[in-house]
Amino acid sequence: MNNPPPLFDTHAHYIDAAFDDDRHSLLDTLFASGEICGIIEAGTNPQTSRAAAELAQRYEHIWFAAGVHPSDITGNLSDLDALIPLLTHPKCVAVGEIGLDYHYSDGAPRDLQLKWLDAQLSLAEAHNLPAIIHSRDAHGDTADILRAYKNVRCVLHSYSGSAELLRQYVNSGRYISFSGVITFKNAKKVLDCVRAVPDELILLETDCPYLTPHPHRGHRNHSGYLRLTVAAGASLRGADLESFAALTVQNARNFFGIKQ
Ligand SMILES: [Zn+2]
Repeated sequence: MNNPPPLFDTHAHYIDAAFDDDRHSLLDTLFASGEICGIIEAGTNPQTSRAAAELAQRYEHIWFAAGVHPSDITGNLSDLDALIPLLTHPKCVAVGEIGLDYHYSDGAPRDLQLKWLDAQLSLAEAHNLPAIIHSRDAHGDTADILRAYKNVRCVLHSYSGSAELLRQYVNSGRYISFSGVITFKNAKKVLDCVRAVPDELILLETDCPYLTPHPHRGHRNHSGYLRLTVAAGASLRGADLESFAALTVQNARNFFGIKQ
């Protein structure tokens, strides 16, 4: 039997405390088995972004994104300056994750979230880096602000918007990334979106330790479960598993500018 094709996890949080007990043994196993050929560790604030840089330094096939997530923003936009030294790190391949999250009523005020997103997209533009965008219950505002940054390559991570908005994004060359949510049978809206993304703009991710695919829901997620998401994506698109897996790996390398 052939070995399963290696996969690229374009969005993970191995810095999370959920991995404190076995972070390195788990990552060593994932790379040694050949099932994973790349991971992007996404920072969520200056501290986790620095930790992401350290993780990327330790593992040949981990790269990182530095950014401040909308749940981690402060009232002082100059706190963003702490990110700047990380953006020139040789393994920093994106600004992220950044975005808008209107899901929680006690979240940061929307105008403050918009200021941080705008400032971080400017940083991406200035450093010629792509951006990893988180958007939850904020689809209209996200689309509006991205329109002002046509030159910044963006991925909408764990996409949860409408099929109509998806058309606008892909028409302007935005990448769309899907998580384990596409293994849930009741996620009809997102399943339609999986079918609608052009081949060259689709990415896959775990967002681990969150968004664990079926049938492991309720347990901690990790990149080893990405194969379930790839299988779901291939079957939704009527694609051959091996070629779909290879396509998503190539897209990840293209998006993040990774040569190897
Ligand atoms: Zn994330």
